[in-house]
Amino acid sequence: MSTPQWIIVGAGFTGAVLAERIASQLGQSVLVIDRRDHIGGNAYDYKGPYGILVHKYGPHIFHTNSKKIWDYLSRFTEWRPYFHHVVGHVDGCYTPIPFNLNTLADLFPRQMADQLSQVLIDTYGYGKKVPILKMREEASEQLRFLADYVYQKVFENYTIKQWSLRPEQLDPSVSARVPIHISRDNRYFQDIYQAMPADGYSAMFERILAHENIAVETSTDFDSVRGLYPDAKVVFTGPIDEYFDFAHGALPYRSIRFRMFERDEAHVLPVGTVNYPNEFDFTRITEFKHLTGQSAPGSVLIEEYPEAYVPGRNEPYYPIPTDDTASALRPYQQMAQELRGKVWFAGRLGDYAYYNMDQACGRALALFEKQLSQARPPETA
Ligand code: FAD
Repeated sequence: MSTPQWIIVGAGFTGAVLAERIASQLGQSVLVIDRRDHIGGNAYDYKGPYGILVHKYGPHIFHTNSKKIWDYLSRFTEWRPYFHHVVGHVDGCYTPIPFNLNTLADLFPRQMADQLSQVLIDTYGYGKKVPILKMREEASEQLRFLADYVYQKVFENYTIKQWSLRPEQLDPSVSARVPIHISRDNRYFQDIYQAMPADGYSAMFERILAHENIAVETSTDFDSVRGLYPDAKVVFTGPIDEYFDFAHGALPYRSIRFRMFERDEAHVLPVGTVNYPNEFDFTRITEFKHLTGQSAPGSVLIEEYPEAYVPGRNEPYYPIPTDDTASALRPYQQMAQELRGKVWFAGRLGDYAYYNMDQACGRALALFEKQLSQARPPETA
């Protein structure tokens, strides 16, 4: 490729989907770069011990309610249906997470569990999801008792480990991600579409990026190409504060240290993930075989140890959604606005937003449709 018309920084969901849209719909040339030595962003996977497909940056389970996103990605992959199950180790018992009516039955004497279940169903309705912080404010003493119990046993310590913050310090959307589910459905997600890419995420990304108008350069930082193509439009999916040289201070991110290990056993965990809200320094362990459906004599697992983000030492995985960070982000959004038409920011780091994979994909599709598609070359008569 000679001079690209677009530079896309980051080959994760956001960057790859935008590159595909620009290349195929606008017919324009795109150079996708990533500072890592692979494509796929945080969803990158590879064959590990025993040939098991492992996720380098922690377990990634695809789920969405959007038919549009599902149909779009289905052009690049077959799927293996997969319903993720999580149990938490609570009071010596392995019990379903998110907390639901089965968890209640596991942790309380039968009569009490039946009574509390009935109160939950009468108050909210079967099938409803209730954020823990909301339930803690209910007038009913029984509901507050239950909410306090769940808060202490399931939420409080896990949140402190994960974020180094208390649940109330975070944006309510964070604790609402793992609500109390008034149901006996033990699946971790209830989305309409839940599946894993049949050949893995990396294979799917290779297909998304396999277009004649797209060139990909990994192990390439934006700094090394920044001045090379002054006329190219830029989509930046890296950290927005880094793009502007931290002009308004560094935004906080949470990082994770992963410990991947193998076991000489066919199966280790009863379900895909076991959460440890109250013991150990790690938050959870995941056994990849459950996700991939592979069979092998051994197994590969991953533990997650949340830690502070230190630039140059680890990766900025999670934007930290609080009121303070929302204010700290605003001057960067203003600076981004001033570059509009030339540089766009998107993605988990570019928007500084806690997106799931489907949301990152949806954000990319919407950005293309609402803004970038206007860069379409004029129709020839
Ligand atoms: P990323 O995937 O982070 O891609 C951004 C890319 O930009 C990176 O590869 C980075 O190297 C590159 N980059 C940054 N700066 C530069 C630069 N200056 N120059 C060159 N390259 C640069 N979502 C789900 O839906 N389900 C899950 O189960 C799930 N589990 C997760 C588990 C963990 C531990 C984490 C951290 C996230 C999880 N997610 C999950 C979220 C998912 O990872 C994100 O939604 C998705 O990766 C966002 O894609 P993105 O393209 O916006 O960002």
